[in-house]
Amino acid sequence: MSADLLTKTAHELRPLLDSGEITSVELTKAYLDRISAADDKFNHYITVTGDTALEMAKSADETIAAGSAGPLTGIPIALKDVLVTEDIRTTCGSKILENFNPPYDGTAVAKLKEAGAVFLGKLNMDEFAMGSSNENSAFGPAKNPWDIGRVTGGSSGGSAASVAARQAVMTLGTDTGGSIRQPAAFCGVVGMKPTYGRVSRYGLIAFASSLDQIGPFTQDVTDAALLLGAVAGDDPRDSTTIDAPVPDYVAALGKEIKGLKVGVPREYFIEGTDPEIDKAVRDSISKLEELGAEIVEVSLPHTDYAVAVYYLIATAEASSNLARFDSVRFGLRESAGDLISTYTATRAAGFGEEVKRRIMLGTYALSAGYYDAYYLRAQKVRRLIAKDFSEAFEKVDILCSPVTPTTAFKVGEKTDDPLKMYLSDIFTIPLNLAGLPGLSMPCGFTNDGLPIGLQLMANHFDESTLLSTAYALEQATPWRGRLPEVL
Ligand code: GLN
Repeated sequence: MSADLLTKTAHELRPLLDSGEITSVELTKAYLDRISAADDKFNHYITVTGDTALEMAKSADETIAAGSAGPLTGIPIALKDVLVTEDIRTTCGSKILENFNPPYDGTAVAKLKEAGAVFLGKLNMDEFAMGSSNENSAFGPAKNPWDIGRVTGGSSGGSAASVAARQAVMTLGTDTGGSIRQPAAFCGVVGMKPTYGRVSRYGLIAFASSLDQIGPFTQDVTDAALLLGAVAGDDPRDSTTIDAPVPDYVAALGKEIKGLKVGVPREYFIEGTDPEIDKAVRDSISKLEELGAEIVEVSLPHTDYAVAVYYLIATAEASSNLARFDSVRFGLRESAGDLISTYTATRAAGFGEEVKRRIMLGTYALSAGYYDAYYLRAQKVRRLIAKDFSEAFEKVDILCSPVTPTTAFKVGEKTDDPLKMYLSDIFTIPLNLAGLPGLSMPCGFTNDGLPIGLQLMANHFDESTLLSTAYALEQATPWRGRLPEVL
């Protein structure tokens, strides 16, 4: 089987599978071989599910032979290890869940099973999705295939990097403050955070429940549309999902962008952003204008407060969500005499440094006497940030900005300075606070050969415009399908 089969997207593989030119079993074996040859170096996978994958591929081949294949039937995919999978170890990147085998599938996972996708395994991530570099994983950092000495971004580092390194056709990740868009930018792939409420979070191990959202990582925009369509929709098991029809996202691609109003938020073009990123993003904006879009400068005046607001709200919610890891119901137990000592010993041994830091910060922000000054205040400013966006979307259809101020940094570069690490999410966090959909797509490379990401943002539930704009740009620029030389 030729190596270039591994470079193909799901929509390119579809006709090959349907015509019988290749089988899902052959394709799956090619991916499993690739993972066993390369992943020691990359560390993208926490768990590889070889036997399950081959069984799923076999049954996909039967579906294909019976003529009832859908777009994802037989396509080898992988899942961020924050998504619970029945009888497949789900660690959340943490020692506390190192041996946790969930008894059920989350909704997104179940939908992909239903769609006939093949599960290659579970992907590396920052512990409990807290981080921007994958260096907070209890299983070691995932490595960036564009430069093995650099981080993949985080927290969905394995999800982004495995698509770039062709260790999965497509993957799912999660985005609470940028964890899909930032690693997608660092690894040169497409990553999309849907509107809060678009994809069910049932079976997603919660970090910050008012912000978390599941979304796709793919090599191109068409695959993103396919994968989003497969997992989106209302779910009675997640009361935050919205009871609205899921549009045909693939059908939305190809729509002309003539007359589209694209807003450029002043506050996202700041000193401190790498000049090569600034240039690549401005070139993309000119390209959109060439394609007939109208470019409008807009202002999101409360942007400066977003990082501070996020680190109050996200840590407060995390401190509450992570209380369930008490050694009684899930995972690790360090028995230590009485109940309270057992809790303490388990949590001390099971959680990493960043998770502990966030639990402490969140507990502090919620404590009596400080609640009003921190948590409540943050909620009020969150509202102002959301209002900035709704005012902007009265004037424009899409917003356009860099994803990150820098490209992928070196492993170890920011680990001693949490604040510096937190600031790397400055352009992605506001969108989560507002619950809006956003996408990161490749828009160029630095002189050193590192990928640069462009962020597009849309109004609530307008993923179709987000995808059609991204598609128009993808077709008009040369970045689609650029892969690192790792094959
Ligand atoms: N990097 C951010 C954080 O550390 C965002 C994480 C995420 O989106 N899960 O919280």
